[in-house]
Amino acid sequence: MQSLLLAYHELFIEHDAGPSHPERPERISTVMNAIKSTPWYENVRIVEAREANPEEVALIHNPLYFNAMRRLCEAGGQYLPSMESNIGPESYPAALRAAGAGLTLSDGIMNGKSNIGFAPTRPPGHHATKERPMGFCIFNNIAITAKYLINKYNIDRICIIDFDVHHGNGTEEAFWYDPRVLYCSLHRDNLFPYNKGRQNDTGEKEGKGFTINIPLHAGCDNEAFIKAFDRYIVPKVEEFEPQILLASAGFDAHIRDIIGGMRLTGETYAAIAERLLKLASASAEGRIISLLEGGYDLEGLVEGVLSYLGRLIEG
Ligand SMILES: [Zn+2]
Repeated sequence: MQSLLLAYHELFIEHDAGPSHPERPERISTVMNAIKSTPWYENVRIVEAREANPEEVALIHNPLYFNAMRRLCEAGGQYLPSMESNIGPESYPAALRAAGAGLTLSDGIMNGKSNIGFAPTRPPGHHATKERPMGFCIFNNIAITAKYLINKYNIDRICIIDFDVHHGNGTEEAFWYDPRVLYCSLHRDNLFPYNKGRQNDTGEKEGKGFTINIPLHAGCDNEAFIKAFDRYIVPKVEEFEPQILLASAGFDAHIRDIIGGMRLTGETYAAIAERLLKLASASAEGRIISLLEGGYDLEGLVEGVLSYLGRLIEG
């Protein structure tokens, strides 16, 4: 068993995406309550997710973009079409804490407080691009975390595994030309964002070969998912020898999810965790930071998160 560092802030449940929106505050409150009732909760250490500062957000995002977002949020509730979500006064500080959660975990893990970290981040991040919000996301939490680790800890081999059902277009864009970050995404083919995440999209220039996209068919089950993971992801990560693993941990490929159209179960998420543990122990001293992305059926989300974290904690 190993301890889990969990970065949390109440603002994660205060951002309001709008009435009947699938990306709702209950996602986080339900997950937190479920974690607190597990037998392994004594292995969880909850810390406050700090705010990312403007310089840290600017590691990925254009300052013109995030200043405009700040003003829009402060101006009060409104619907942003490109984000497919409402924003309000709590949204901007929540997004700063969601980005900061990855930085809190980075410092904790790099300073040896634990090997594994998780944050139930909300709003999620992997669709946000340098200059616009997208797909319920304001800041790209995982990309900011990776850039922060590169700058602060002189890490030059980071692997991001993105197992959300959607392709993480924002993360891919952030590191498209960058060989320091191996971005691996398994996602449902031809789901939002459309025409992204094709298998022959592998990066350009120095970054060529450091983006791995594995589109999967609708209805993909545990066996097909793990087979693809073992065949396409594992050998690439082993060859890359990352110094730390980051995970865009989305649970919307769960069989119960209303958006994903896939058939994964808790068993699949435990199997992913098992593989991450093995990969991290080979080259990354066991270091794994996971940030929540999607997952819109509360029961499916809880089953996914508990199976995944429970297996990570098992070590
Ligand atoms: Zn998703």
